[in-house]
Amino acid sequence: MNVILLPVAALFISVFLIVIFYSKPRVDNKETNIYSKMLFINLIFDLLCIITVLFAKLNGDEFVTGLIQKSYLIVMDYLICYIITYNLNLLKINESLTNKLTFGLLMSLLFFSILFLFTPINVINYGEVVDNDGLSYDIAVISIILYFFLIIVSSFSLFKRNKKDFSKDTPFIVLIVFFIVGLIIRNFFPSVMFENFFFSFTLLIMYHTIENPDVKMVEAMEQAKNEAEKANRAKSDFLSSMSHEIRTPLNAIVGLSEDIGTFKDEVPAQVKEDSEDIINASQTLLEIVGNILDISKIESDKMEITEVAYDFKREATTLAKINAVRIGEKPINFKYYIAEDIPYELLGDKTHVKQVLNNLLSNAIKYTNEGEINFNVNCINQNGICELVITVQDTGIGIRAEKIDKLFTKFERLDVERNTTVEGTGLGLAITKKLVEMMGGKINVQSTYGKGSMFMVTIPQKISKVSAPTEEKHGFERTMSMPRVNPDGTTAPIVTAPPKVEGVPTVGGYGAKRILLADDNKLNIKVARRALNDFNFVIDEVYDGEEAVNKVKEGNKYDLILMDIMMPNMNGEQAFKELQKIDGFDVPTIALTADAVAGAQEHYKEVGFFDYLAKPFNREQIKE
Ligand code: ADP
Repeated sequence: MNVILLPVAALFISVFLIVIFYSKPRVDNKETNIYSKMLFINLIFDLLCIITVLFAKLNGDEFVTGLIQKSYLIVMDYLICYIITYNLNLLKINESLTNKLTFGLLMSLLFFSILFLFTPINVINYGEVVDNDGLSYDIAVISIILYFFLIIVSSFSLFKRNKKDFSKDTPFIVLIVFFIVGLIIRNFFPSVMFENFFFSFTLLIMYHTIENPDVKMVEAMEQAKNEAEKANRAKSDFLSSMSHEIRTPLNAIVGLSEDIGTFKDEVPAQVKEDSEDIINASQTLLEIVGNILDISKIESDKMEITEVAYDFKREATTLAKINAVRIGEKPINFKYYIAEDIPYELLGDKTHVKQVLNNLLSNAIKYTNEGEINFNVNCINQNGICELVITVQDTGIGIRAEKIDKLFTKFERLDVERNTTVEGTGLGLAITKKLVEMMGGKINVQSTYGKGSMFMVTIPQKISKVSAPTEEKHGFERTMSMPRVNPDGTTAPIVTAPPKVEGVPTVGGYGAKRILLADDNKLNIKVARRALNDFNFVIDEVYDGEEAVNKVKEGNKYDLILMDIMMPNMNGEQAFKELQKIDGFDVPTIALTADAVAGAQEHYKEVGFFDYLAKPFNREQIKE
């Protein structure tokens, strides 16, 4: 048998593996990194073997053959050590231990290499093959046995670690079997050079177990993910522009219906009643649009929790009052208590905290026909955090025990047969729960079907200021019985005054004030004009941003500018920036927009607007 055949086969496998490994796209990680180095060491190993055989054939110099032999043994040790390192890496033990072990291996390698170099080797040249003898060779055998022992230990740990899954161990098991077989062969046929073939073969098997997921598949998945994200963005954009499109005409509907209400003595009672129904229906539509927008934002991870300093007690009181009004003529006794020890100023997401309270209160009112609703807020203050403990308890229709789990699922409405008259989308509680959790809080519910429910929410908020600068005393317990339904108890910017002003108020002293109204939608201008009618302002109207800027540049003096944002030619924000460039410009400018996205108010105020008003606004808001 020609002894060079096996090393040549090994060399072929080596080259073949290198070509395949480098021609295919691959994942760049530590595992593939070590593997690629092994491939090259293996190539050198095979070349050295062939060189040795060729040298022997040519009856080469004994010293040089000895040197080649020594290098061959050193490279073999290196290769084995790399296999151990590869195993260590798969074991995923902590990094510093891995580094220490790798360093130990390297030191031992150096130690053995020096020993090889300085101890004598006895080359037995059979003419065709070479065998060795001597101290250097004995040291090599000892080191190889030692390293193989380490391979066995690390492979066994890997086997245990991978929960008895030996797929990653296959190459090492094969190598160990080869090692034992090799020892036996070596005993009977000392001239057969098997090592190279065994190592190359092991690397070939390793190539198939290496964690190198098909890169094409990864690319395809990446592309699919990008497309899904794009579609999701398109969905969100669609929803937000839909919400904008719906809000704009709603502004006109709400505004003009309210306007009808102010002529109550002149229009038939039926017309006034209808106009209130229109306002109510618009309000519901508005809430639905808002909820859909919120849920889509939560689902696309776009909902953000912001932090502002706010007076929780004041906000909660206002909300309680607004909701109390919503009870209408139902015989419900509404009580609220807001603990005195809640710090004066909290740091947190005011808008979302209010949204949570509002959802719970409006549900209690929606699903209670008579009895009592108790709204309590207590707190636990410690380490700079105020844990708000909010409970909303009602004597309403209650929730069946088996339905409680579904309560916080989106679009889930319970007991629909009984609730046919109650409007809703089943989104409120899903949004509430997500918001509470995003703010680091918890929500719980207890309910007895037919008797009533209690929702309990805890929300941690940072404490900004413990008490008011001038001692403002809070802490109230109040009982209210509700006289009438007010159609505009909305969640939009809050009106603390009695929510409805009947007739034309006698407001004096505004006659000389001038307002510039910029909006491309004529109906909206009409609504705003009507709402401001009572004050006898002098109103100038323009239909885009550029015209607004020109008006000011022409020297017109205004006391207030109401600026729509979405306008042709130049939008409201650009126009405002242009206005700010004008020397001495200091007219308070309020942004009017139908994008009621969270954070809009902060954004417009940051830009420098005096305030922000979301469409549709009601008469009260615009008057305020
Ligand atoms: P919506 O009120 O728009 O239907 P929610 O997500 O706010 O949606 O509520 C989901 C369902 O949970 C409601 O349809 C109702 O059946 C039930 N629910 C919520 N709050 C109460 C409550 N306080 N009392 C009784 N049932 C309630």
